[in-house]
Amino acid sequence: MAYRAGSTLLSTAIGILGGTFDPVHNGHLRLAIEVREALNLAEIRLVPAHLPNLRGAPRASAAQRLALLEVACTEPGLVVDDRELRRTGVSYSVDTLCDIRTELGATPLCFILGQDAFNNLPRWHRWRELLTFAHLVVATRPGYAAPDDPELAALVARTAVTEVATVLNRAAGHLFFQTIPRLPISATDLRRRVAQGRSIAHLTPPAVVEYIASHHLYHN
Ligand code: ATP
Repeated sequence: MAYRAGSTLLSTAIGILGGTFDPVHNGHLRLAIEVREALNLAEIRLVPAHLPNLRGAPRASAAQRLALLEVACTEPGLVVDDRELRRTGVSYSVDTLCDIRTELGATPLCFILGQDAFNNLPRWHRWRELLTFAHLVVATRPGYAAPDDPELAALVARTAVTEVATVLNRAAGHLFFQTIPRLPISATDLRRRVAQGRSIAHLTPPAVVEYIASHHLYHN
């Protein structure tokens, strides 16, 4: 299915980008924009985790990380989805995708991951079920190689496709690798820069820079 927005024919497919977003930065935003354009997706939902699995608690509160995302997502087609913040406990992507799948019916759903996150997939809760709810779209990221985990390599061999049309013709079940321009930006680096009193201008949108400064976030 497709619909027209301006002069562009868009699919109805939805992209999901989960993360801690502590804080959101241009690496996240470019990732969302590049994947949306490459796959012609109707929208990308950025989904902040309440309590991320496999890492420490975020530095900023859930409300602050949500506010940062809301001021950052000014680009058409990027929307913030706060469903994980409304759940208690650890945020598991498999629960989120199951929830969204129930809402969307047979609409194609693309769960977007950086290559680093993808290579770590076998450590995720019920990771084998992710592809029953969505496609996985893996964006290359600086410094990360192809997976060496045998089960992950087998998943690539079994489900990876190279045609966008194949992804958009099914609701879920494929892996798709998308090369995106490399932006060596991380939230860890932004937090470190703020703690050192250094500038984070041009690494994240001006509204995020302002929010961090006015709320005194990430100072040690
Ligand atoms: P931290 O430095 O705190 O670990 P992060 O910058 O990696 O954070 P996350 O919120 O953990 O950000 O990442 C959410 C998603 O965005 C992950 O799939 C991650 O791979 C991807 N991502 C983060 N930064 C980039 C970047 N610069 N380019 C492409 N993808 C990115």
